[in-house]
Amino acid sequence: MKYSEKEIIEWILGQAPLWTLLRENVSRTLDAGKHRRDTMLGTGLMTATVQVLAHRKASATADLSDALSGRRPCFLCKDARPREQKIIPWEGYEILANPYPLAMPHLTIASATHRPQLIAPNIRDMARLTRVLPDMAIFYNGPRCGASAPDHMHFQAVPKTAIDTTWTLDPELIPLRDEGRARLYAIRPDLTPVPFFEIISSSDADTVRLFDTLLAALPQGDLEPMVNVWAFGTREGTRIVIIPRRAHRPSCYGTAEGELTVSPASLEMAGLFTTLSPAQAELLTEGKILEILGDVCLTIPEYALICKHLTRK
Ligand SMILES: [Zn+2]
Repeated sequence: MKYSEKEIIEWILGQAPLWTLLRENVSRTLDAGKHRRDTMLGTGLMTATVQVLAHRKASATADLSDALSGRRPCFLCKDARPREQKIIPWEGYEILANPYPLAMPHLTIASATHRPQLIAPNIRDMARLTRVLPDMAIFYNGPRCGASAPDHMHFQAVPKTAIDTTWTLDPELIPLRDEGRARLYAIRPDLTPVPFFEIISSSDADTVRLFDTLLAALPQGDLEPMVNVWAFGTREGTRIVIIPRRAHRPSCYGTAEGELTVSPASLEMAGLFTTLSPAQAELLTEGKILEILGDVCLTIPEYALICKHLTRK
């Protein structure tokens, strides 16, 4: 990569003066950041942050069947992208500004060609991206776990400061498996409302093998196991956090007045909840957030069963 992370971000944000949509939404996101509300969840190891961003409506209400059946133009394909959007090419991907940012900066790393959103064939690219963007955390929303372009392979990235701190609580991680220079861990599920698996690795090849082993042990969906995935670099190596899901949207999801339009994706799994109005933000109490996470994440018995399966040799 010939650009540093700083240069990439400067280039991406340098478009804002000439691109009205990005400029207006960046200013909304910066403003929302000043009015965020924090809520400690359950054991107190995880904090949820609630923000209001009306510009996320299209994403929160996306109809996946239209995208998956090709009934709408793909907004990550070159032809349908905003004319103002600049790109930085990287290894078969294009690094773009997300014009509907959830945090600042917010990048989309989209495949240069239209190909399905699938994690297994692309996990190595994700691990490599952590070195292109060392101060950012990369995330992947499965096609039924929050991706609003479920038919076009893409990652996203936000600053590391946006991610959940329980993922770096190393004393609480339980080793499950070794694969050369990579190790797979579980978390004590009573410590977090978002049970996850974590790979800490200094070898991308070993990461891929361990990731495939984990994916094979998860409940299989029609496209792939339902997951949100985070990747970021640390001194100990690359960390990949895999959050298995059991539902796309919580039972309380609704788009009518007085209902909650929260469609959980990677950022919600990391504790950042975005609502569309102050009235909706009021509804997101600690109890409601725990209910939403309980609806979409694995239950403790489901998680424990997978851990047991993975420790069996
Ligand atoms: Zn496309």
